[in-house]
Amino acid sequence: MSNPDDFPADPARYAATIDEDQLEILEARVGTVGTSLTIRRALPAARRRTVGAWCFLDHFGPASFQQRKEGIWVGQHPHIGLQTVTWLFDGQVLHRDSLGTVQRIESGGLNLMTAGQGISHTEESPHDHDGSLHGVQFWLALPPGQASRAPAFEHHGTLPTVTDDGLSATVFIGEGLGVASPAGTFSPLVGAEVRLAPGRARLPLEATWEHALMVTDGSVEVEGSRIGVGQLLYLKPGRREVLLHTTGSARLILAGGEPLTDPVVLWWNFVARSDAEIREALADWQQGQRFGEVTGFEGERLVAPPLLGHLKV
Ligand code: MN
Repeated sequence: MSNPDDFPADPARYAATIDEDQLEILEARVGTVGTSLTIRRALPAARRRTVGAWCFLDHFGPASFQQRKEGIWVGQHPHIGLQTVTWLFDGQVLHRDSLGTVQRIESGGLNLMTAGQGISHTEESPHDHDGSLHGVQFWLALPPGQASRAPAFEHHGTLPTVTDDGLSATVFIGEGLGVASPAGTFSPLVGAEVRLAPGRARLPLEATWEHALMVTDGSVEVEGSRIGVGQLLYLKPGRREVLLHTTGSARLILAGGEPLTDPVVLWWNFVARSDAEIREALADWQQGQRFGEVTGFEGERLVAPPLLGHLKV
């Protein structure tokens, strides 16, 4: 996806709430793409920019498109300094990029695009899509030593799944719950879909990492607080596990990793370490340099929003 940067930004409304037990719950900002696709953006938030290397967490759908000609249609746009992690629960998306990749993704498969020094891509509902769409797209900040690496793309059709008392989980990226995804990463992290049956479940965590739980279906109770769709629970380092309780079935995304030591600058579709990097990337996009061409997509390139003032690092 492309970050339209037009989501409501009201720091008071979207500030984190801290309850008595020090659980930090973030409310996602809610926007709509096209006529019917809801996007809940949990990161970046006013109070918290990153969780591990995760710097952008979008949950979209579920959508039920009335007509096959509806769907998503995201024109060519650039990225730097990040990996995009796309994971679907329902529906289909066709990805094309400036490396020449054309890759369809559906439930159970991972699309992982490493932007590095620069890549551009498009995303669309394939002509034979089934009318549904539900999933997540997250961004990972590349560490400073990897941020200008060559761009790359990988698709994985099968990811490791774990079944334990009360839960089953698919680790689509990184390591967690005793298994490792084959997807390429550049810092210690985990990204997993966790499916909960009614009852109690124990989710193991890496004690030196920070974690986020983003509920995508149903609701879950953690230490007396109920977290539902559109909310993100932040768990600071120091936990080896978190206990979850559900009265119905629920699904959530576990995203965690080693806390970043250097702050990142996030503007439009760029992740960088400085203002200058962002300005150079913007100029290159506007001048048709660096980001290559995507072929086969019937639509226009996206225009960057105006870059106003000084960027906050
Ligand atoms: Mn994108």
